[in-house]
Amino acid sequence: MKIRVLGPYGGDMPGCFMTAFLLNDRLLMDAGTIGQVLDLKDQLGIRDVLISHSHLDHCNALPFFAVNIFSNDAPPVNIWALQPTLDSIQNHILNNQVWPDFTKIKKLNGTPVFELRRMLEKEETRINGFQVIPVRVNHPVVTSGFVVTEGGKSLVYTADTGITEEIWEAANDAPNLRGIITEVSYPNKMQKLAETSGHLTPAELKKELAKIRRKLDIPIFIYHMKPEYDAEIRKEIKDLRVPNIELLKTGKTYEL
Ligand SMILES: [Zn+2]
Ligand SMILES: [Zn+2]
Repeated sequence: MKIRVLGPYGGDMPGCFMTAFLLNDRLLMDAGTIGQVLDLKDQLGIRDVLISHSHLDHCNALPFFAVNIFSNDAPPVNIWALQPTLDSIQNHILNNQVWPDFTKIKKLNGTPVFELRRMLEKEETRINGFQVIPVRVNHPVVTSGFVVTEGGKSLVYTADTGITEEIWEAANDAPNLRGIITEVSYPNKMQKLAETSGHLTPAELKKELAKIRRKLDIPIFIYHMKPEYDAEIRKEIKDLRVPNIELLKTGKTYEL
């Protein structure tokens, strides 16, 4: 499985793009960044988008993506998420006030730009050669991580979360787990804020990783650093001395 990091951050600054991972050039996992990084040809390759939750750093690129792909003669791009997340996108973004409703506006070929597709918690959905299972995590709005399997290899993405259980159980159960993408948003000194906002610090991450019972000889990819604390988080993660841990970089492609 190929993971192209369009954005690994939980906020934006020059050179820091918001959360989005492109899997095998066709399945986008979260949509905080699209058009700032992908040229039009690569944008047209995206057929499906998984959205973990409704926070803007995970879906703010969707409205402009809709405009970019408007002229193409292809079926709608499927936007996959749990129902409360789809409701938020429909009611608060594509609501004909903040942005036109691209689930209704028809392209020249007569199909809408987006189709909202509901996923069910802990149920597998087959999406264009991938098997995807959403698993709820601990965040102030309804949020799911994903277990994504393709070609017999699995990736666990926790999405934004504080201290949580089920997704780590899913990581324990995933067949042929090849990598984990999980979050660190704040440095250790901001533990209180991390707790109330449903995020992790490096110290809490270490405790969360202890919930994985299998051998951690796979890459642990870190995303969602708040750009303001990037250097501090980097140092604290290095000090954890966890093997195979890596902070994701914008534009870099990883192969599992
Ligand atoms: Zn976020
Ligand atoms: Zn969030």
